Amino acid sequence: MSDPSTAAARAWVEVDLGALQTNLRRVRQAAPGAGVVPMLKADAYGLGTAQVLRAVVEATAPQGPWAIGVAAVAEGEALRGFGWSGRVVVFAPVAPGEERRAAAAGLTLAVSDLDALDRWAAVAREAGRPLAFHLEVDTGMGRSGFPAERAAGWGPAAAARAGDLLAWEGCFTHFHSADEPELAPTDEQARRFREVLAALPPEPAGAPRRLAHCANSAAALRRGGYGMDLVRPGIFLYGGRAGPGAEPEPVASVRARVVRVARVPAGATVGYGATHAAQGPERWATLGIGYGDGLRRALAPGGGEALLRGRRVPLVGRISMDVTVADATAVADAAPGDVATLLGRDGDAEITLDEVAARVGTISYEILTGLGPRLPRMYRQGRAHTS
Ligand SMILES: *Cc1c(COP(=O)(O)O)cnc(C)c1O
Repeated sequence: MSDPSTAAARAWVEVDLGALQTNLRRVRQAAPGAGVVPMLKADAYGLGTAQVLRAVVEATAPQGPWAIGVAAVAEGEALRGFGWSGRVVVFAPVAPGEERRAAAAGLTLAVSDLDALDRWAAVAREAGRPLAFHLEVDTGMGRSGFPAERAAGWGPAAAARAGDLLAWEGCFTHFHSADEPELAPTDEQARRFREVLAALPPEPAGAPRRLAHCANSAAALRRGGYGMDLVRPGIFLYGGRAGPGAEPEPVASVRARVVRVARVPAGATVGYGATHAAQGPERWATLGIGYGDGLRRALAPGGGEALLRGRRVPLVGRISMDVTVADATAVADAAPGDVATLLGRDGDAEITLDEVAARVGTISYEILTGLGPRLPRMYRQGRAHTS
């Protein structure tokens, strides 16, 4: 690759921000009229908060996203550091004691119980200014939220706490199976959520209408966000599939340089445990990437592959912390300095994110968020290339 930014790197992650913007537009088309809350938690699913922020702001210009969604107070603080002055909603419950930091950074909290609401109110009183919250309703995720079946109890109690210092801005729920082939469980969660919304005390006269939202990527794409006010897409923006149907544009590619090519005789072994021996004369290419970079060790032996000069080659032996070996016997001209692709496209060949996830028995989310800090992120606005 001639790109000077990668010329000196042994391995890196390429992020196609143009593809991310295309995926975001697809979500917005699927849920027309809904405000969008791009989820940038876990460093924008491992791809880099600052650059993803810039891309989503640009793709939603001129009005911008309704808010940015994160999962931790520190992630909201980081967004402020990157110059985002719009809304930030922290969707995971915060630990007691974190509220003051959240308020100082101007964050909006998701609230799961009355004690958390009281703590948020106390911080608002102390700060002498109103703080906003979104009330989470648990319709089946079971990890956070007010229980859907007891809204008659907590609904009036939450309404009594909301007021001048505590702005009840929205209600939301989160789906557990919106990416499964069968959508009936998701429809049922949406039905329960609507039932809760209808059972809540109305907004006081003059107060803004509370917004309702429920959709992750899959529910936004497959059910139009159930026609609610906001959608909260994550994985689809980053190139992960969100249920059957729409294929995202690939966003992340993982590349590594070939750092050594060796001809080996039959019987030569490779890697810890010497799990692979050459069947005949073979040509092995050592790649400058390993599990210390987030390349999943379970990929090899076990069917993991790399793309080399546009061809699929198998990974052989166990993946080491820093290097991985591919059998490049079929690629006669493979040479040190070549760029191997562990995830993404090279010419007409492609190793998809969901393919890698399936091969190691996990989900795209875990592959992306597991890409390590040793891999520099390189940003492109268009399709990536190699060789
Ligand atoms: C992570 C998250 C999302 C995004 O889900 P995807 O499946 O990545 O689209 C939406 N809402 C909440 C509350 C989340 O935590």
